[in-house]
Amino acid sequence: MIFYGSKGVHLHSEQVSGVKCSHCEQTSTHTVSIYGKYAYVYWIPFFPLGKKGVSECNHCKITLEPKEMSESLKLAYQNVNVNAKTPIWYWSGLGIIAVIIGVLAFSSAQHDKDAITYIDKPLVGDIYEFKPNDYYSLLKVASVDQDSVYVISNDYETERQSDLNDLDKASNFTSKPYGISKEDLKEYFKSKKILDVNRD
Ligand SMILES: [Zn+2]
Repeated sequence: MIFYGSKGVHLHSEQVSGVKCSHCEQTSTHTVSIYGKYAYVYWIPFFPLGKKGVSECNHCKITLEPKEMSESLKLAYQNVNVNAKTPIWYWSGLGIIAVIIGVLAFSSAQHDKDAITYIDKPLVGDIYEFKPNDYYSLLKVASVDQDSVYVISNDYETERQSDLNDLDKASNFTSKPYGISKEDLKEYFKSKKILDVNRD
């Protein structure tokens, strides 16, 4: 099965009159056709690969590529070529990728912004992704007062941050709460002892 390749599609044709055919020597009408090529992956056009065109003498039917055209025919051909716009959907694949990257970047930036807000204004139930040294664990906010947050350590730790989700169960927070000053909390976040804040 072929997943990628290139494909040419007819874009535009125009009748060009008053040009002498270099083959049959008649001043006849020529049909100039422009084809757009694009690269595709699966069935999705990814990006344009330029345009190609031919002329056909309506009298003797000879078809000519640009390099075979007489100067006057080539000039007419170039005018037609300008009118043949590359359709925007030739960029579909790159467009989709750009949109996905944009959405991911935006939601990641939004998440970072949220975490800063959550550290500034802690709420009961916030979960901190905590990395005091080589391991990862969670802290759950049990209460908040004027100057401090009181957190419960998770009973488990992991070697990978991505495994922290598995620890986030109410039954894993059994120890007694201890206080962290709000100043220290900000410091922990700055120094990446607290890596992230999750709030439902
Ligand atoms: Zn001809």
